[in-house]
Amino acid sequence: MQLVRLEHRLLGLSLGLVLTTEFQRLNTMSDTIDVNEIFGPTLQGEGSAAGQHCLFVRLAYCNLECKWCDTAYTWAFTPDKATVSNIQYDKEANIHPMAASDIVSELEKLYPIMDRPTNIIISGGEPLMQSRQLEPLVQALDKLDCMVHIETAGTLKPTEYLHQYVTQYNVSPKLSHSGNRTSKRFKPQVLQWFASQSKSWFKFVVQEIGDLIEVDHIVQECNISIDRVMIMPEGIKPSDNLVVARRVAREAINRGYGISFRTHILLWPEVDRGR
Ligand code: SF4
Repeated sequence: MQLVRLEHRLLGLSLGLVLTTEFQRLNTMSDTIDVNEIFGPTLQGEGSAAGQHCLFVRLAYCNLECKWCDTAYTWAFTPDKATVSNIQYDKEANIHPMAASDIVSELEKLYPIMDRPTNIIISGGEPLMQSRQLEPLVQALDKLDCMVHIETAGTLKPTEYLHQYVTQYNVSPKLSHSGNRTSKRFKPQVLQWFASQSKSWFKFVVQEIGDLIEVDHIVQECNISIDRVMIMPEGIKPSDNLVVARRVAREAINRGYGISFRTHILLWPEVDRGR
């Protein structure tokens, strides 16, 4: 009899735990997402999915500060950060807290995703800083049969819940020329986790042939499959992108890596946001 009572208590306890966990998750799911911009339809400009039709949801904040970042308007809101980006952006004007349902409505206004599901690229900044808040959004997009791509620098893991709804990770680990401290930009355990996921593709921004040696080390240390690596020449202007591409392409190809141009920059050089 005592055993039965103990069993009931344990059952009640575990049910309580499950309900508490679910309650906490739903509570968290009501959080808003800090969005920088939503735009499209356009094409994915970079990486293994380059050229594919998509819409972009760009989130605010980044945990890194790359010297050549072309989306510093997602994170350079303080005088301190502006020493890296050279411009201090207005925080209020660049962060828009939105519920997941509002983001879906905005996407639908731009393109009929309910009738014609497409790729939704969740970019940043570093979108995985809002991993938990993204959960209801990716779930809603999944219900609409949209494919969810997450762009990340590979320093943070997604929540398990988010992970199950992601179609593809575009992981772009940052090299030393980004200007970030090694301990900040390089998280081998996180990269090893991404490397073990069939959804992951990797993209390395390079400036010089010498950068490929750093790429090789990261690829080896983190067990990244060579055929999942794309080398992306740095360059904010089309001419710069092409010059760097010509400098590094042959060496990259010989190593087994692919090359990714920055297609949106080649197509729309005169636009600096939302292309
Ligand atoms: S990780 Fe990306 S968004 Fe963040 S600073 Fe570097 S280039 Fe910019």
